[in-house]
Order: sequence, then C-alpha cells, then structure tokens
Amino acid sequence: MDSKDFREFGKAMVDYIADYIDNIRDREVLPSVTPGYLEKEIPKETPVEGENWKDVFEDVEKLIMPGVTHWHSPAFHAYYPTSNSFPAIVGEMLSSGIACVGFSWMASPACTELEVIMMNWLGKLLGLPEEFLNCSDGPGGGVIQGSASEATLVGLLAAKEKTVRLLRKTNPALLESDIKGKLVAYTSDQANSSVEKAGILASVPMIHLPSVDGRLRGDALRKAIKKDKDAGLIPCYVVANLGTTGTCAFDDIEELAKICNEEDIWIHVDAAYAGAAFACPEYRYLMKGVELCDSFNFNPHKWMLVNFDCSAMWVKDARYLVEAFNVDRIYLQHQHEGQAPDYRHWQIPLGRRFRALKLWFVLRIYGVEGIRQHIRHQIGLAKHFEQLVCNDSRFEVITSSMGLVCFRLQGDNSLTQQLLDKITANKKIYVIPCYIQEKFVIRFVVCARITTIEDINSSWAEIFSHANTIVPCPILNGNSIIPESRKHDCLSLTAYQNLTTKKSNNTISEKSK
Ligand code: PLP
Repeated sequence: MDSKDFREFGKAMVDYIADYIDNIRDREVLPSVTPGYLEKEIPKETPVEGENWKDVFEDVEKLIMPGVTHWHSPAFHAYYPTSNSFPAIVGEMLSSGIACVGFSWMASPACTELEVIMMNWLGKLLGLPEEFLNCSDGPGGGVIQGSASEATLVGLLAAKEKTVRLLRKTNPALLESDIKGKLVAYTSDQANSSVEKAGILASVPMIHLPSVDGRLRGDALRKAIKKDKDAGLIPCYVVANLGTTGTCAFDDIEELAKICNEEDIWIHVDAAYAGAAFACPEYRYLMKGVELCDSFNFNPHKWMLVNFDCSAMWVKDARYLVEAFNVDRIYLQHQHEGQAPDYRHWQIPLGRRFRALKLWFVLRIYGVEGIRQHIRHQIGLAKHFEQLVCNDSRFEVITSSMGLVCFRLQGDNSLTQQLLDKITANKKIYVIPCYIQEKFVIRFVVCARITTIEDINSSWAEIFSHANTIVPCPILNGNSIIPESRKHDCLSLTAYQNLTTKKSNNTISEKSK
C-alpha cells in the first residue's frame, strides 16, 4: 500500500469510526454469533496475493461487527467502562504513525519527555502529593503502564527486591532464596482478580483479608501481619483498593498505610476505575492517607476518556523499580543517562509505545473542566438510575458508588437471577451480576461517554419490562387508581413510558468538533 491508498483507506476509516459512534444506539449491544462463527467466514490461510484495501474495508462491517460487543453503546452497563474519545483515537493514530519504541530517552526523546510531563499533569489533576511527581526534587515519578494488572505486579516485584536488600543489609548471612520463600502479601477479599494473579506471577502468596462492607480496615491487616510474623513469614506488600471491582468500595488507606509504614511494608493503591474521580476535588477525601503510600495506580483508559491502553502509575521512590528491573546491555546505553528516566527500568517489557500522545490530546482538548464535567455527568446519571430503582418498591438498591449501582428484586435470589437471564437473552442492554453478602445482585454501571439521561431511562425501561413478567407491577395490571403505598412507583412507570422520547444531545462538547 502506498501513501495515496493510505490516505483513502485512512479517511474512509475515520468516517466509518465516526459513523459507528454516532449510530451505535442502532446496534444490539450484545452480538448474536456463536463460537467459531468467524472461522466459517475467513480463509484458513493468508492470501498469497495482496488484496485491495476496499475489500478488506467492506469485510469490517460484514464479518467483524457481527461479533463485536459494543462497549461504547449507552446500553452497555457491564464491568467498568473502557474509555474512548475522538482526541484519544487520533492520538493512537499518530502513535502508530510515528511507531517508535521508547525504551530509553535516546530511543525517542519526545516519547519519554512527553510521558514525564503528562504524568505530572495527570498527578496534579488528581491532587496527588508532590513527592509522587517527576517534577519534585525527590526520587518519585510517574510512568504509563499497559494495565493496572502490570502496575500491581511491578509494585510487588519492586517490594520483593526492596525487602530482600533491606534484610540482607542488616543480616548478610541470610540467603536470598530463604527470604523469598517466606515473603507474603495482603489485599482485601474484594480485590480484583489481577491482584491475586500478581501474587502467582511473583511467587508471593497474596492473602485475602476480610473486608467490612467491602472495605479493608487496619485491624484485619494488623492481625494478619502479627500472625504471619509469629509464624516466621515476612510481610512485604499490601494492595489497598480505592474502588473495588464488585461494589466500588474504598479501603481506609490512611489506616492501612500507617501500619505498613510502621512495619516497612510497601503499600500500593489500586484505584483502576475510581481514581479518575479524584480529578474532582469533592472526591479526594476518599484517598486520605495517599501521601503515606508507596505507589498509586489508576487507569485513564477506564474512566478518563483515553483509549486502552493507558494505566498511570506513580511511585514515591523510583529507585526501587530501577534497582529491581535494571538489566543493562551496551547497546541500550546512551550518553544522557541519568538526566531523564529510561522507562524500560520501570516496567516489565523492554519495548514501549508512545502512549503519552493520546493522553496529551485528551487533556488538552477536554481540559481539566471537560474531564471533571465527564466524571460528574456520569455520576449524576448513576444517581438518576438509582432513584428510578429506589422508586419501585419491588426492587432494592444494595449499594451505589461513583458510576455503579448494585440492585436486585426483593426476595429470593432466584427472582433476580430470572431477571438477569431475561435481560441478557433480549440483548438490549448488558449488565452482569455479583454477590454481596450472599445476595445475588445486578451491577449497573454508566459506561459509554455518550450516555444521556434518555439512555438511562431506556435501560431502566428494559429492566422494568422484564421485572413485570416476574413480579407484576400493580400499576400496569389495570389498576387505574394507584394506591397510596404505590405512588412512588410512578417515577419508574414514567421512565418506562418515556422509552421513545427523543434523545437529547447533552454529551461533553469537544472543542475539536
Ligand atoms: N483493579 C480493579 C479495581 C479493576 O476494577 C480492574 C478491572 O476492572 C483491574 C484492576 C484490572 O485492570 P486492567 O485491565 O487495567 O489490568
């Protein structure tokens, strides 16, 4: 393909993507294909002669789209969001165009330098303490990792090395293998699966401590440390959660960090989803104590409008990463070493993409206020949904936090299971379940950037209509006189009847539009 064809192909694809987002409400959020569908459509071997780009382009709609789950549809309410915005897409495009590998400053100075500056912008946007930033006088700094999973693992590997070095300094007779065999790490029973996986990958048992209402408190940690130390084990790492995956609960990081500081244990904060909310000062009380932590991570690729992958990690002392991961070769060295980070020492792979570009585009084009508006708007939509659920006495809200509402039908778990089965089979909206204290609940998350209040009403109408087939709604059962005790159901009913209302366009405005 020459640059002439590239221009045509690229422009056609930009139009396709813009149309895809503009018309995404017309697609069913869940695909209807069955496993192996694509194998039947695509040849088993690579074509011998190169094909025309137009044929490839046509196959996107024909073959790929039928098998896509539309994460950016306003009817997608499962998991946590994955971000998407036009500035970030263009940033990705440029990153692919430059296609450098920034493993050292010299390998592409702009790649490293923009990342350093963006991590400072982002850290300030979240209100992180100065010592986490590259621009502070100290050894702290930020780096873009591929995922929160990698950040948790990087923190654990650094903590492991730090503990070994520390113990061998005071007791050189100790063998590295003996120390490593005794290390333990802790997190809450609500931590994301990636935290347990980090323990497996690092060969450090990750102990799940009991949470109370989803939050890990200091007494559980203190008890576990004492028990394990008495048994001859060596605690080295704690992962605290700000915004757990199940219910978006917030651990008391101040309490946990004080204990970790006393015990010389590395404390890492996993704020993968909810960390974006700290851009709004009114939520920063939830990260009280962050200044006592060793590392902090959140995913702009979840809730801050940057396309996957972009996971922001800060450490208070980057020397621990460099000490843990510094494996050098002559061909990697350059004459400016020490004047800027060589980010290969801060991560697992050697190679790294120019991810700071998409962050730069998003932060400039939305601005601080645009980011805040996005977060507040989505939290407001979740509050609206919660209100709709609360106004229907057949339902109960078990918990709600940020853009997440966990709710269920009152009574036996089987009712909510039936409701979920019907919703999933109908494919109009996508929600997933979880258990909260043995109650089977549906997690409803406001995900898509373009979600409006009408979209939320539409999703509620879908839930409402299936609920009516399980627990009949008295208002819809020909009850023309609404009993006083059921008056509050009217709001739900209104939302149901508003299903066809016109869509308003109250999405975030981008200056680029
Ligand atoms: N931590 C939490 C709290 C999460 O909710 C998730 C994913 O939803 C992760 C970590 C994993 O994130 P990533 O896919 O970036 O590794």
